[in-house]
Amino acid sequence: MELNICHLYPDILNLYGDRGNIITMNRRLEDRGIRVNIEECSIGQPLDIDRHDIFFIGGGQDFEQEVLLRDLAAGKGRDIRSAVEDEKVFLAICGGYQMLGQYYKTWDGSQLDFIGAINIHTIGAKERMIGNYMFRTTPESSGSVVVGFENHSGKTYLGEDVAPLGMVLKGYGNNGEDQTEGARYKNVFATYSHGSLLPKNPVLCDFILQTALIRKYDSAEPLAPLDDALENNAHCYMEQRLQKG
Ligand code: GLN
Repeated sequence: MELNICHLYPDILNLYGDRGNIITMNRRLEDRGIRVNIEECSIGQPLDIDRHDIFFIGGGQDFEQEVLLRDLAAGKGRDIRSAVEDEKVFLAICGGYQMLGQYYKTWDGSQLDFIGAINIHTIGAKERMIGNYMFRTTPESSGSVVVGFENHSGKTYLGEDVAPLGMVLKGYGNNGEDQTEGARYKNVFATYSHGSLLPKNPVLCDFILQTALIRKYDSAEPLAPLDDALENNAHCYMEQRLQKG
């Protein structure tokens, strides 16, 4: 078996080591004897959606998101929408998550029209939502506790056809108002959780990988367990810290 991963805009959307999510997916697949190809696709490069099984988009500031608008409008936005509807797997973080939505009205009044691949929109607030946080994913997205770090001014609101990725246990999540965190639409997993999301949340990582294997091979065997002692230690340490705080 083999999975092809596409890292979208790696030179532009890559805050807080978001790239670590690619490294983790790669490692957890290779440890199970599944081949991995990783390709990068950035501004001006054509995106061949049929080649890839998993698309990864990291986070970026308002400025970087604005820089991408022209490239998205020139065709990548349409390609990404097709891939989403074709049930390809996406993992999108923070700015990348917002970019999949309809639009982002920044706190200082400009409107960025995004690609509308998922029915969400984002409104900037003057106060940023920053800190370690945790949420529980819905049963449809593994039903696990996820620990992470968020830093955004955008408040994201989900349309009726989009489910949350999970519900906030500590922190802000999508908007600090309705307890929802992230989005799940078809095989899109979108979240505000930056940086080492997958290294310290191996259950979610395997769920995403399994989703891609089922999409591609239909009858994928359950993934063989790995020794996750270090990963679980990191996860539990942060979970306990957040519970106390
Ligand atoms: N620019 C967006 C915001 O502040 C996303 C930031 C990010 O990706 N960390 O809401």
